[in-house]
Amino acid sequence: MPEHHTIVFAEATLVTPTRRVQADLVVEDGRIAGIRRSGSARAGEHVVECRGLFVGPGLVDIHVHGGQGHDFVTADPQEIIAGCEYHLSQGTTSIAPSGLSVPIDEMRTSIAATRAAAPDCRAEILGYHVEGMYLDQEYRGGHLAEYVRNPDPGEYLPLITDHGDFITEWTLAPELPGALDLIRALRAAGIVASVGHSQATHEQMLAAIDAGLSHATHLYCVMGSLRFEALRASTGRGYAPGVVETVLMSQAVTTEVICDGFHLHPALIRFALMCKGPHRLALVSDAMKGVGLPAGEYFIGGQECLVQGGIAIIRDRPEVIASSVTPMIGMLRFTHETVGARLEDAWTMGSLTPARIIGVDDRKGSLDEGKDADVILLDRDLNLLEVYAKGRRVAMYR
Ligand SMILES: [Zn+2]
Ligand SMILES: [Zn+2]
Repeated sequence: MPEHHTIVFAEATLVTPTRRVQADLVVEDGRIAGIRRSGSARAGEHVVECRGLFVGPGLVDIHVHGGQGHDFVTADPQEIIAGCEYHLSQGTTSIAPSGLSVPIDEMRTSIAATRAAAPDCRAEILGYHVEGMYLDQEYRGGHLAEYVRNPDPGEYLPLITDHGDFITEWTLAPELPGALDLIRALRAAGIVASVGHSQATHEQMLAAIDAGLSHATHLYCVMGSLRFEALRASTGRGYAPGVVETVLMSQAVTTEVICDGFHLHPALIRFALMCKGPHRLALVSDAMKGVGLPAGEYFIGGQECLVQGGIAIIRDRPEVIASSVTPMIGMLRFTHETVGARLEDAWTMGSLTPARIIGVDDRKGSLDEGKDADVILLDRDLNLLEVYAKGRRVAMYR
């Protein structure tokens, strides 16, 4: 690509967090240079014809376990790159590979492999999301019981010391002994502490938020809800908020939803959007390596999984959904078309909001001047037509 290369996405319907606007988007040297009135392309500029198309920021996935047969718990950087490359082909231009509950050495190896992969990956690797191992045994969902345990500073502190600058987020259950110390250690290292796989009480949640907990992993899914418990020592039982209600009512906590049409009823997503708004509620794929593959059997997290009918289930526990097999673009489409969110809001939930949650919104998540030119083009039915990462076209379907 020549120096000072200018691309004009001409006569597009630009989707911003607040509105849709008919205009030209100008990209220079891999960054957003600005927005001009439609028909402004000048001689020497490379024009991408976008009449009738939606043009918006590339999607940002902060919770995803693999793609197209590649697992993000691995020692092999090429595996990370290949998995990210699939998501990139689906419009996810920035990604935080995520690991689930495994022995701490395996987690460390996976983080190191992801670090090694980052410079060579065309999708931007934002860091690593540790989803595990300090989860509630009863709410472990798809995690393996033998790797779910209480926080142990002897194992997590060295990992934070070595990789704290690369770990974006850590999902944990605040009710476990030692969890508040873990949350404080994460916050001190600039890592987002997130509640997940938890049945914490309202009081335990408030203590965790005081300690620095700021996010909630896959809202509603394997997460404690209304609790029937003694509110006063002298009486019988009444109802108290659980994790779900506390997350929905706490301004200091952001959260995320898996909008694949299988994990959550659309009304629950609508309710979360009413409570949190599009700037505190992100879309995540939580996809496993079966995404992008035909239906079949796959090995994930040490367990046999079946991918069929648009979802992954664990063979030995068919009532458990293991992970989604829908990429972010499918979540955006579902959120707009079935949940009924405005397109601007659904797109924000898939780009700017996740970027802000992990603190990369200064360069990712919207079409604002100076940000990386991560741009996707969709037709009126929200089919993906083209993907650009830092101004470079990486996928085309028209
Ligand atoms: Zn999970
Ligand atoms: Zn997950």
